[in-house]
Amino acid sequence: MAVNGTGPYDPENIFAKILRGDIPCKKVFENEWVLAFYDIAPKAPVHVLIIPKKPYVSFIDFNKTASAQEIVAVMQAAGQIAHDLHLEEGGYRIITNAGQNAGQEVPHFHLHLLGGKALPPFPA
Ligand code: AMP
Repeated sequence: MAVNGTGPYDPENIFAKILRGDIPCKKVFENEWVLAFYDIAPKAPVHVLIIPKKPYVSFIDFNKTASAQEIVAVMQAAGQIAHDLHLEEGGYRIITNAGQNAGQEVPHFHLHLLGGKALPPFPA
């Protein structure tokens, strides 16, 4: 079910549980600011979720309240992961769903990194 991208942060959301180590993930990348892991229901041969470690409901929240250092860290991580997973030559897509109209389901801001094949035109 799609969530409100501006609501209060729910510390029981699934990505908060992954960050706390309460449930496992298939980790791809981690540093002081960012965790990235494979999507459990991949929409492409490579489908990675990139999340800030701090609690932001959506891009709406992240863009307004995260520090410049944190915003840069998320974007740099996305580029680094795409490089490390050899997605650059073939190309890739980065998207984020923010709130109900976009169909955001997990209320912790995340980027989707999709690649590994020719993707359907966006939006599909
Ligand atoms: P969104 O609709 O943009 O909020 O995307 C949420 C994404 O999280 C979906 O692509 C789900 O497949 C993915 N997802 C949900 N639970 C997990 C999980 N436990 N581990 C990895 N990915 C998950």
